[in-house]
Amino acid sequence: MFTSTNKLIDLIPYFKKKLGVLYSDREVDNLFYWVCEDQFELQKFQVKMGDKRLTESELLTVRTIVKRLEQKEPIQYILGTTEFYNCKIKVDENTLIPRPETEELVDWVLDNVSKEQAVLDIGTGSGCIPIALKKAIDSLTVSGLDISAKAIAMAKESAELNDVKVDFIQMDILNPDLEGLKMYDVIISNPPYVLESDKSQMNENVLSYEPHLALFVADHEPLLFYIAIAKIGLTQLNPGGLLFFEIHENFGKETIEMLEKLGYQNIELREDMQGKDRMIRCCRG
Ligand code: GLN
Repeated sequence: MFTSTNKLIDLIPYFKKKLGVLYSDREVDNLFYWVCEDQFELQKFQVKMGDKRLTESELLTVRTIVKRLEQKEPIQYILGTTEFYNCKIKVDENTLIPRPETEELVDWVLDNVSKEQAVLDIGTGSGCIPIALKKAIDSLTVSGLDISAKAIAMAKESAELNDVKVDFIQMDILNPDLEGLKMYDVIISNPPYVLESDKSQMNENVLSYEPHLALFVADHEPLLFYIAIAKIGLTQLNPGGLLFFEIHENFGKETIEMLEKLGYQNIELREDMQGKDRMIRCCRG
């Protein structure tokens, strides 16, 4: 039986029964309260205290969500949004789900930009990076570039949702049209960097649902996007301009060497919260 009382709190055993095989108790708990907040705008303590009862149609909605979770679909895609750096970001199968390590990159960028600067995010996907930057510092001029028209359409919706102005550019960064770009003070990118050979260690919910276009590069070309973007930086960054990358944890050294060869200066590598080499900042000089 689904629930005899129609009380929201009584759905916890249902969540555990359906999802306990796939997720730990703690994850099931988190998923439950995430759904409560998203669907009924109730915080955990309100769910626990209150005796919110669900209508038949609300029950049906929850049942549909649980069904999709049982198929290992990420909760962010089911609900259609996620939180990123104080912003609500819309996501679907065309946009990668923003990751916590990318929030760390945004933190680093924010420590380095000043008021009126022009910033470009290459491979913007959901638009989480430019939207978060613009929301934090409204005087910045912020652009996001992506090859995917569908991702850009979502990113535009998220910019609107957060009430910020971001320019979005559709372009293939491997065949760039430099005329379509301006000069920037800061270029940021979290490009595809997961190797095809990493697939065997990845979670099914990432592999089956997230856009491979945004994730993978061939094993023999791990720096494909990094080289292309660093070259663009040479022509599109103002003197003294900064380039920021999120990187694959195993390619810090190679990325630094490539940037040195192209003439970048003050190259700094940082770890993420898990202690993995994850981001680089350098200066065009
Ligand atoms: N950090 C992401 C992941 O591990 C990958 C992001 C990317 O390829 N740029 O799934």
